[in-house]
Amino acid sequence: MKIHEYQARHLLDEAGIPVPPGSMVTTVGEAEEAAETMFGGGATLLVVKAQVHAGGRGKAGFVTLCRSPQEVRDAAEFMLGNKMVSVQTGPEGLDVTRLLVAEGVDINKEYYLAITTDRSRGCNTLIASAEGGVEIETVAHDRPEAIMTAEIDPLDGLQRSQAIEIATALGFAGDQIEQAADIMMKLSSLVTRTDASLAEINPLILTPACDQHRNGRVMAIDAKFNFDDNALFRQPELRDMFDPAEEDPAELKAREFDLNFIALDGNIGCLVNGAGLAMATMDIIKLHGGDPANFLDVGGTATLETVTEAFQIILADKKVRGVLVNIFGGIMRCDVIAEAIVAAAKEVGFDVPLVVRLEGTNVEEARRILEAARRDIPTMQSAGDLEDAASRVAAAAGAACP
Ligand code: GDP
Ligand code: MN
Repeated sequence: MKIHEYQARHLLDEAGIPVPPGSMVTTVGEAEEAAETMFGGGATLLVVKAQVHAGGRGKAGFVTLCRSPQEVRDAAEFMLGNKMVSVQTGPEGLDVTRLLVAEGVDINKEYYLAITTDRSRGCNTLIASAEGGVEIETVAHDRPEAIMTAEIDPLDGLQRSQAIEIATALGFAGDQIEQAADIMMKLSSLVTRTDASLAEINPLILTPACDQHRNGRVMAIDAKFNFDDNALFRQPELRDMFDPAEEDPAELKAREFDLNFIALDGNIGCLVNGAGLAMATMDIIKLHGGDPANFLDVGGTATLETVTEAFQIILADKKVRGVLVNIFGGIMRCDVIAEAIVAAAKEVGFDVPLVVRLEGTNVEEARRILEAARRDIPTMQSAGDLEDAASRVAAAAGAACP
């Protein structure tokens, strides 16, 4: 699960990591009101930021520094009235419905700091770079030596000595080292406490020196978190931060029915049982020149209702030019799938080619059900084996392409 920046800032703030104050707003009027309060309270610079689950906002024009309520108003009007298209959103862009109006800060230098699970090392890893603000992927690609990492022991956690070492290597000096190391230690505890799979501060910044902070201040001005969905049962506070508006509607619907569904870019809808078989099915579709429109594992305990819903989700995708049903009935019964096909045909209709490959429990009964319904599902073909099924659906979807 992902959360918005304003929610992430709240978590950092709670953990004692310095973040400029701000508030989330949803209308131009609220943005202006927040601006007036903050300028009235002594702020001289504010920043208006689109709250969407995608980065690259700065370059897309959805992070704007403002020096008056009128500038905040203009920025809010623009962001709430236009889709944000950035390197991370794809050409269709994202609707912006929430904004963060926060105190702006002067920046001396930008850094990158993150903690994420490193599956190859089997532990969390702290990642840091003195080249922050920009996409870390670009730094990793062009100048991998500019990225530092430290393994975090699963039991002992991040050690202060590791944090000090990284802070020093980043080029911090004097009490900046203590400030940066303190942020790293707190971020590490926060990651553990929240079951985060990613916590990223980009940029972590150093402000210019001032009276209170003679060496400047190290603080976070952007943050991103991903949490392990399997741990959400013990994170009620995080669950409440879930924003359905940022999710793919088909994936939300699927979740409601306990289906393991992930939308993809291709045009062949897949209905499969078992994650392994679903992966193999996607591979073999690719092998035959096709392109899957989704990953869908209906699981072993699916009912007629959930499988019918699964077909509806697949068929609602306008990109779908063919559907492949690949079921190996173990716990899942083939006749349940067959009945769901008949029900889906009645409710939505298969106006695209449908290729069905069934094996296993109650397959005879399933074949009988489908045979009896053949007239109602004219686009249906039966396939002998997986190879045959994949080549048929790839050919059918290819032929159906405009
Ligand atoms: P992202 O582009 O979606 O990652 O959004 P960020 O919040 O990281 O902002 C992008 C860039 O805008 C940062 O790297 C900074 O250079 C700049 N920026 C953001 N907030 C401030 C601020 O308060 N003051 C100044 N001077 N620049 C800011
Ligand atoms: Mn950023």
